[in-house]
This record gives sequence, structure tokens and C-alpha cells, in this order.
Amino acid sequence: MLCVECGKREAKYDNLCEECFLKKVKFTHLPRHMEITQCPHCGAVKFRGEWKRLDRKEMFHELVMRNLTVLHEYDAIDVDIKEREERGVIHLDVKFHIRFKDLKIIEEHFCEVTINYESCTRCNRYFGNYFEAILQLRGMREGEREKVREFAYSRIEYYAEKNENLFVTKEEEKKEGVDLYLSDKREAKKVARDICDRYGASLKESPQLAGRKDGHDVYRVTYAVRLPDYRSGDVVQIDNIFYLVEKVSKSMLFLLSLKDGRRKHVDTKRHKIERIIPQNELEEAMVIYSHSDYLQLMDKDYNILEVKSPFKHPNGSKIKIARINGEVLVLP
Ligand SMILES: [Zn+2]
Ligand SMILES: [Zn+2]
Repeated sequence: MLCVECGKREAKYDNLCEECFLKKVKFTHLPRHMEITQCPHCGAVKFRGEWKRLDRKEMFHELVMRNLTVLHEYDAIDVDIKEREERGVIHLDVKFHIRFKDLKIIEEHFCEVTINYESCTRCNRYFGNYFEAILQLRGMREGEREKVREFAYSRIEYYAEKNENLFVTKEEEKKEGVDLYLSDKREAKKVARDICDRYGASLKESPQLAGRKDGHDVYRVTYAVRLPDYRSGDVVQIDNIFYLVEKVSKSMLFLLSLKDGRRKHVDTKRHKIERIIPQNELEEAMVIYSHSDYLQLMDKDYNILEVKSPFKHPNGSKIKIARINGEVLVLP
């Protein structure tokens, strides 16, 4: 069969010869002028009402592919975009590499792009001091505030990596602790829970009505995280026995008995902590003689103390002791 156009060569594609086919058929169409909406603060791009975070290359690729009209079927397509800016106008040189049957065709388009600027949802909230939750950090010891605050921030950053709508709107330093104003209450709760797990803290949740939006009540939530009175490294008394707190996890205390050196764990919901000697109240002493479970110590005022301890300490070593009602307890 011969080409219906020229009647000379063999018809190979759509009743046309290769020459006439390539002359007559166009595969792609792009508008000469395209528009895109971008956030001036963070660079996010809006496509059909949805904000996407793309780099410049991805942004133009997405723009081109969304504006592409396919005029003739093909087997495969690839696009190569070159961008240049001239007197404030963005020009795109778009090359489509098309494969159709055994043909390889390049179609080139030159377009202009206008960028319209509009603040995205996240930036609107961010710059509008938007918040849904207040995370209150309470019960911190002296010198501990910065550490707990840093831990809270590290968890916020962790969740913010997956949810860009999470950020700290405001921070308030108070006598009783730190208040963090957060943009997302669900994420704020996760952060609060993480702090509880880490420090064995308790969590109190109190919602407040903040207003109405689209016919629904809008609540803000205060998450009060209160650290317990004990920490790992403290000495505590439970059921009349003194222990070193080795680890705190949720309501669980991992303990080492100062009496017999045995380990156990207790749930603070079921056991009363009778006494707490904070880590910074422990004293230092030097071992001057040791034999089996017998130790002779010298305290910081050069008093000689004789004690029994399940923990072995060589002569000359510096150790920590707790003094409770005249009784001396040796730490491992
Ligand atoms: Zn022909
Ligand atoms: Zn933005």
C-alpha cells in the first residue's frame, strides 16, 4: 500500500509514509504561556489546591507534564527542560523525546512561565502565630530545664520531619517550667508521651474550647507533663530498703539494692516511695581499707567510717555514699 498523501512511498504509519507522517503528525502540545503558584516564604508550589514541596527542577517538570496535551499516541516519552530567565521572565525550552513504533522523534516547545505568589497553609499558620496545643514542662530540678527542653525539641523535630504543619509557635519561660505552643495537637500529644516515657513523667490533658470553625467546636489542648520527684542516679527508700535508681521508664523503676546488691524493678503505681535522696546530695568518700564486704572509708571531713557493703571497691578508690539518719550506705 502506498502513502495516501504523496502516493509515492510505502505507507508505514497511519496510511502515510515516514516522511509525510513526520511532516503531518504532531504528538505534543504545550501552551506558550503557563502559570504557577508558589509560596514566597518556603517555596512550596500549589497544584490544584494542594501544596507540594518540590525543588525548582521538579517544579517545572510537574508544570510541563500537567500542561501537556497529547495529540497522537506514542510508545514512550521523555522530557528535557532548560530554564533561562530574561528580564524577569522565565523561559522554558522543553524537548520531548518520543518513541513511536521504530521512530524516534524530538518535539521542541518554547514557553514562558509566570510565577504567582501566595502564602501556603503552613506559612499562614506559622506567621499567624497559630497554635492548637500548649505543652507544659513541669517538675524539673535545678539545672535540668535545658536538658528536658532539648529533648522536647528533638522529638518535635522528629515528628516535624513527617508533618510539615508541626512547629513551635511560641515559647514561654516560667518560674515553674517551660510552655511550648505547638501548631498541631495530635503531634503535641506524641511529644508529651515521649517525654513521659523518657522521664517517667505524668501527663494531664485539659482541652479548652477555642471557638468554632465551619460549624465545629475547635479545641485547644494543654498537655501538662510533670516529671516525678525521682531520677535515675538517685537513692530511694521503698518498703524500708534503700536502692539506687538505675533507670526510670514510664512508671517502672529499675533498682539496685544497696543492702544486698540485687536488682529488682517496681511499679511506682503500686509501691510508695518513702524517701528520695537526690543524686546531688550524695557524698564522696575514699576507700582506705577493704576486705570482703567490710570497708573502711574516709569522708570529706577526714572522719573514718566503717561500713558493710555488697559492692567491692579497691583501696584508694573514690566512691559515693548516702548518709541517712547516721547510717552510711555505699553506692556501687
Ligand atoms: Zn508520503
Ligand atoms: Zn510556605
